[in-house]
Amino acid sequence: MNPRHHPSADVLAAYAAGTLEPGFGLVVGAHVEQCAVCRASTAAFEAASGEALSALPQADVAADALTRVMSRLDVAPAPAPAIDKRPLMERLPLGKRKWIAPGVWVAAVQTPHAQDNRVYLLSVAPGMPTARHEHTGAEFCTVLKGAFRDESGLYAAGDFAATDEDVDHLPVVEGDEDCICLFATEGRLKPKGLLGRLAFAYADV
Ligand SMILES: [Zn+2]
Repeated sequence: MNPRHHPSADVLAAYAAGTLEPGFGLVVGAHVEQCAVCRASTAAFEAASGEALSALPQADVAADALTRVMSRLDVAPAPAPAIDKRPLMERLPLGKRKWIAPGVWVAAVQTPHAQDNRVYLLSVAPGMPTARHEHTGAEFCTVLKGAFRDESGLYAAGDFAATDEDVDHLPVVEGDEDCICLFATEGRLKPKGLLGRLAFAYADV
């Protein structure tokens, strides 16, 4: 799989530095996991920040070094965690699926997030409108399954999309399978249309 839509360099740098809010980091990670190009960029950012750290003055290192060496003596190396190879969708801590229309469901992702932010999966069957909404902040989205098309092109599994506030667009599911996307949305949602209101008010995501 070769995703065609990637996070910006700024977003990848923040992801590598661990400074994105967890839900937003999760959405970027869902793309990076599928994208060799962005994995390489992330590794480069991590290496660069490591070099920046090692270039800092070393004044406190010596005083602290013995303590750290001593503390390592008794510690057995931690076993490498088993790699979970299930698809991301099966690994996410999901709340209950809530059907908001025939062929459309949402499920909250149980991850820490700011009170006004939302992290959720949205699944839309072919031929159904997506939950149209505006929002007051950024929105990140990674396609986990299926595909959608909007005015900026086709987004298939692995593709990443970021939109700024007050974008009002209406993606349409492409192809003949359900489109499942992982979203992190910042700020208060402003649902539009009946389905949007149902998705974000009734379903409480
Ligand atoms: Zn990428």
